[in-house]
Amino acid sequence: MTTVEFRTGEALADAERWTAHNYHPLPVVVAEADGAWVTDVDGRRYLDFLAGYSALNFGHRHPDLIAAAHAQLDRLTLTSRAFVHDRFAEFCRGLAELCGKDLVLPMNTGAEAVETAIKVARKWGYRVKGVADERAEIIVASGNFHGRTTTIVSFSTDPEARADFGPYTPGFVVVPYGDVAAVRDAITPNTVAVLMEPIQGEAGVLVPPAGFFAGVRELCTEHNVLMIADEIQSGLGRTGKTFAIEHDDVVPDMYVLGKALGGGIVPVSAVAADRNVLGVLRPGEHGSTFGGNPLACAVGAEVVRLLAGGEFQERSARLGARLHDGLNALIGKGVVAVRGRGLWAGVDIDPALMTGRQACERLAERGVLAKDTHGSTIRLAPPLVVTEEDIDLALTHLAAVVQG
Ligand SMILES: *Cc1c(COP(=O)(O)O)cnc(C)c1O
Repeated sequence: MTTVEFRTGEALADAERWTAHNYHPLPVVVAEADGAWVTDVDGRRYLDFLAGYSALNFGHRHPDLIAAAHAQLDRLTLTSRAFVHDRFAEFCRGLAELCGKDLVLPMNTGAEAVETAIKVARKWGYRVKGVADERAEIIVASGNFHGRTTTIVSFSTDPEARADFGPYTPGFVVVPYGDVAAVRDAITPNTVAVLMEPIQGEAGVLVPPAGFFAGVRELCTEHNVLMIADEIQSGLGRTGKTFAIEHDDVVPDMYVLGKALGGGIVPVSAVAADRNVLGVLRPGEHGSTFGGNPLACAVGAEVVRLLAGGEFQERSARLGARLHDGLNALIGKGVVAVRGRGLWAGVDIDPALMTGRQACERLAERGVLAKDTHGSTIRLAPPLVVTEEDIDLALTHLAAVVQG
């Protein structure tokens, strides 16, 4: 074993020794990164085609985001919400305007934002819609991924995510993803919300049938039910638009945002909705010590500014077409199916050839980082700053892996 190999090996063993095994990472130990590229502890460079599951939409260490973070670190980092700080309103206003909504409620992680959406929908149900106490129901989709809290895993359909973590929170009804008739049948007078991902990332980048969300929107309006779009992974430029739900020409009642909202620097999440919805919360009913902290707001405001320019959405659409053309050309040549929008793709590798995990290991050996989801599916989600040459390089390596 060379000294070079030694560093990766030791770092992997250390991580294994000192942490709970709730992840099964690829054997790569990253030390530095810039844009779409990362460097490991042994100096090997990799193209990052996962981008922190869309938390790094603007690439690693985008100069504007790093500058915003540095400037804020030198002034003020935390107040708690017991006081107001001078970056708070700027971020909330910018994000509300980006979403076209009246109000924003900032949290930290995606799961917290989903929890916020659930609490707000329930309270709205009781106080505005007039649902009887303790009866609120929320409709969700099979194959969903909304986070890891006990309430959220209560309505997961993935046995790994859910088993052994009960007793489960009641009040959720699961319907097949993409089935409007099933949503219609599931709506009762107690339904307060339909909570879904516009594209299901964890499930393998599943794009619902055309017209599905238009149908859901119509049903929600007709039955006075809140339509909640979990855009934590699909939003903020990933699919070629600011929000993936725009592809369906639909406006939800509430957006749930996270991941890229923190610019790859700090965890920042939020929900955005109009006053008739988010206005139901009163002091003391919900909160977070770190939610909307000055550093988060400084970075988040810069994220909003980057998105308001439209450049990243345009790149995602244009470069995404190149990525999808290249991937589609591999169908029948080791690849069985390709799904997605913009710079986001779920790629089903022929299961007779290898698992998704094996494909990702072989890609990593060739210097491309991606992650498998289920079985033989791998997920590609490069940072939106990726170049055409980067995409072509990744496609060349993927072709070699699936044909090798
Ligand atoms: C990642 C993700 C979450 C959870 O976000 P965390 O920051 O990991 O808590 C929720 N919903 C979707 C769609 C996600 O992709």
